[in-house]
Amino acid sequence: MTSTDKPLIVKCPTCLRPVPWTPEQEHKPFCCERCKLIDLGEWAMEEKRIPGEALELENDDGEDAFFH
Ligand SMILES: [Zn+2]
Repeated sequence: MTSTDKPLIVKCPTCLRPVPWTPEQEHKPFCCERCKLIDLGEWAMEEKRIPGEALELENDDGEDAFFH
């Protein structure tokens, strides 16, 4: 009675769903591509939060010329 064909189960870091650790599970440790992208997106958002990058918001010179 050996049950070696039972895959290891890990938890998806995003939604905490059980994910079988198998070669077919190409997004592991995530359960699906969406969870993977969500996690990557959060990382990207944190990187974009660097202060001093959102200074060039006021480039409405064209609109100003239109106003005159
Ligand atoms: Zn998930």
